[in-house]
Amino acid sequence: MKNRYVVIGGIAAGMSAASRIRKVEPGAEVIVFEKGEFISYGACSMPYYISNPDGNYKDLIVLTVEDAKNKRGIDVRTNHLVIGISVNERRVFYKDLISGKEKSINYDRLIIATGASPVKPPIAGVDNENVFSLRTLDDGIAIKKFIAENNPKKAVIVGAGYIGLEMAESFRERDMDVTILEMLEKPMPNYNPEIIDLILKTLEDNGVKAYFNTKVERIDDKKVVTDKAEFDADIVLLATGVKPNSKLAKESGIELGVNEAIAVDSKMETSVSGIYAAGDCAESIHRITNRKIYVPLGTVANKHGRVAGLNAARELTRFPGAIKSAEFKLFDKEVASCGLTLSEAFEQGFDPVEVSITASSSAHGYKYKYPIQVAMIGDKKTGKLLGCQMIGKTGVAHRINIVATAIFNGNTVKEFSMFDLAYAPPFSPVWDPVLVAANVLGGKLK
Ligand code: FAD
Ligand code: NAD
Repeated sequence: MKNRYVVIGGIAAGMSAASRIRKVEPGAEVIVFEKGEFISYGACSMPYYISNPDGNYKDLIVLTVEDAKNKRGIDVRTNHLVIGISVNERRVFYKDLISGKEKSINYDRLIIATGASPVKPPIAGVDNENVFSLRTLDDGIAIKKFIAENNPKKAVIVGAGYIGLEMAESFRERDMDVTILEMLEKPMPNYNPEIIDLILKTLEDNGVKAYFNTKVERIDDKKVVTDKAEFDADIVLLATGVKPNSKLAKESGIELGVNEAIAVDSKMETSVSGIYAAGDCAESIHRITNRKIYVPLGTVANKHGRVAGLNAARELTRFPGAIKSAEFKLFDKEVASCGLTLSEAFEQGFDPVEVSITASSSAHGYKYKYPIQVAMIGDKKTGKLLGCQMIGKTGVAHRINIVATAIFNGNTVKEFSMFDLAYAPPFSPVWDPVLVAANVLGGKLK
């Protein structure tokens, strides 16, 4: 008899897992329950879909429901909400959101890939019709529709994290006045101060007003009221972080771990044998510290899903850990980071040293060259490379991955400083900016 695999959630982690299972065990029955209308879309592209008036949401969909069914043989059931799991009976209970009917189905193995949900501040007005979060494709479509129908002139973004900063550019592209309100004293709070200053300068240069140490008290009709001042707002975006969707797992007796995410081992198996969890609903392990962390990133979700799917289909694979590699575009700048920040390195018991250097994106004699600011962190005790952050107009987003590779592999700063990196004048100086930073850092670690 063929095995039946049930997957809850049909985006990055869920569809990666489902696809892997079908690949390893082509005869298996794979059912994906997704409460929304869409599966397998690139949420990461939504800021650019919103900024482009001609952008079509269909371009964000990587795999349609039809292709998942017909080409990959996955039984995708959209508009189906899973409402319970009986771990003893190996059964999930679900509701067809179109017909309203509730049913249940048994499984041999289960993968929970329920993702995360936006955190909304507990204040009045967050459900007003001009107030949005950005998480699902439905959210992106709703924001774009609101802009088309209402032509908002003033946008207030609450939160200066990844979504807040990316959406500041997106709203400016749509000709809005943009104000960011952040409760902490700076954006990207753990970053090196010189990199933060360049982020702030980039916002200022592009006409974005940003207020820090600012507490939002309520949202009135077209106004955001804070402890400092009131801000006019035709549209409000709440970009105040995410929390894992782990309630379903918790209610069925599955253990939660760090940040209330579902606890998993390196096979992505939960505390209940035969049940796996992957993506933004699950915890990760930090490759440098070996401690549990929560990393709600698409890069990690895809790998989690792959590992969970392979193990569910009995092909032993381990998730090797994450180092929080991430990057984003801020107007004309690329901002990127990987590994530990200086404060995280101190918290984790290292003896960290940080250097911050400015180097050129291209060789001295090349016509087009721009400064790149590199902050790099190493450990005095072991000499290991621990972390890096960068900002610059060009050559940052891909360059961070060289450093990420070295950190992932456990290289020392000294080893990294002699990496044989390619060079030609349009692409870098003969000593690449990351190698210059490593050389300076190496000197301080002695
Ligand atoms: P989700 O995408 O949250 O999918 C979970 C799915 O499960 C949802 O569709 C939900 O409807 C469904 N579900 C939940 N509960 C149930 C239930 N009970 N029954 C049925 N279905 C259920 N990451 C990067 O690495 N780089 C980026 O540049 C980047 N940019 C981003 C930009 C934006 C605007 C956003 C919002 C996110 C961005 N991310 C980025 C993060 C990335 O999108 C997420 O990490 C990724 O989508 C997580 O995938 P997931 O499958 O774990 O969860
Ligand atoms: P975030 O954690 O990046 O930032 C949230 C920000 O909101 C923080 O600066 C926090 O201090 C602030 N905040 C929280 N409550 C507040 C309040 N009441 N008032 C004012 N400020 C408040 O979260 P996000 O921007 O919502 O993004 C969610 C997740 O999506 C990120 O953690 C990231 O993993 C992922 N993401 C990644 C990328 C990328 O890699 N390029 C882009 C977008 C989103």
